[in-house]
Amino acid sequence: MSTQPETVPAASLPLRPEIVGEEPYGAPQLDVPVQLNVNENPYPPSDAVVASVAAAVTEAARGLNRYPDREFRALRSALAVYLEREAGVTGLDADHLWAANGSNEVMLHLLQAFGGPGRTALSFAPTYSMYPEYARDTSTAWVAGRRAEDFTLDADHACELIARVRPSVVLLPSPNNPTGTALPLETVRRILDVARTSGPLDGTAGATDAADLPATSTVVVIDEAYAEFRREGTPSALTLLADNPHLAVTRTMSKAFGMAGARLGYLAAAPALVDALRIVRLPYHLSAVTQAVALAALAHTDELMGQVAGLRAERDALVDWFAEQGLDAVPSDANFVLFGRFADRDAVWTRLLELGVLIRQSGPDGWLRVSVGTPEETAAFKAALVEVLGA
Ligand SMILES: *Cc1c(COP(=O)(O)O)cnc(C)c1O
Repeated sequence: MSTQPETVPAASLPLRPEIVGEEPYGAPQLDVPVQLNVNENPYPPSDAVVASVAAAVTEAARGLNRYPDREFRALRSALAVYLEREAGVTGLDADHLWAANGSNEVMLHLLQAFGGPGRTALSFAPTYSMYPEYARDTSTAWVAGRRAEDFTLDADHACELIARVRPSVVLLPSPNNPTGTALPLETVRRILDVARTSGPLDGTAGATDAADLPATSTVVVIDEAYAEFRREGTPSALTLLADNPHLAVTRTMSKAFGMAGARLGYLAAAPALVDALRIVRLPYHLSAVTQAVALAALAHTDELMGQVAGLRAERDALVDWFAEQGLDAVPSDANFVLFGRFADRDAVWTRLLELGVLIRQSGPDGWLRVSVGTPEETAAFKAALVEVLGA
């Protein structure tokens, strides 16, 4: 191979202006003993689950010369059964379900179908930092309203902003990442009512005067990535699906289900909304291996979810512990806690890393986010933090 880079003229790649100078998204992947930075379930699948998954993959492997089932209806049905059971709702079937490689891809599909040039996506900060990236990547304008001081969402502010901006998509995590704050169902109901007619004004209907343009709906996405960790009495937005054709509730197998490595996210919505996503997905986007793994794992729901109650208790204890240390901690419905506040959070984060504990710098300045691990991992985190703060 000849290496003559100095003779090759510098190319000027025609990057889209909005990605010039951007860095790839993602938390550092470091090999340290205690990893509490990306909200994974700390418990690996049991031998029984591993055996089922391996058998399903072996079976799928025999057909890998063929493209996978584009509609993956068996998996969509199994996800419907799971959701009905988990959230106590009825009436869901394969037509109401959609899935992709992580709920991140599901939300990208939503923006591909409902966003685009001339349209706007909206959320309320501080929130999940991937949302503006879906907007950027689909040439959708991005607007962020504000959460209150305590990170709750003020329903009046939310409804006013949605009515004024007329977004085609609103992204609302419940519980919110990185704060752990869930949305009361009453807030979601009020937003859904406004959203019924707050979408982009539809010029395709032939009206010439802006006042005559028919109003479309805003698609309201309730991102329930952490819903299985919600506290007693916090309902799921799935209970509102039947009355709201413009609602999409996204879920994932990455968090409570303990299958982050499998990359399987999904949503439930009215069949017409799901059909719109079927237009924009790439053909065969969900591999035969992914479908097999997800189906096999769903057959072990009870076992995989067996750790969730313990993780919830561990989370509540962690919030209390922060208070005992004289620190602020945000009440959480998720498997992580936002805590602070530190004059130099970067220094605290770095010292913890030196002690073998990896957490996340996330949220407003001064705050740090820690995922709930095994009791041993949580103990190691507490000991390290006490050492860092005592030093
Ligand atoms: C982790 C997370 C997701 C899920 O991502 P996957 O692509 O399903 O792994 C979605 N939304 C939020 C807010 C998250 O924190």
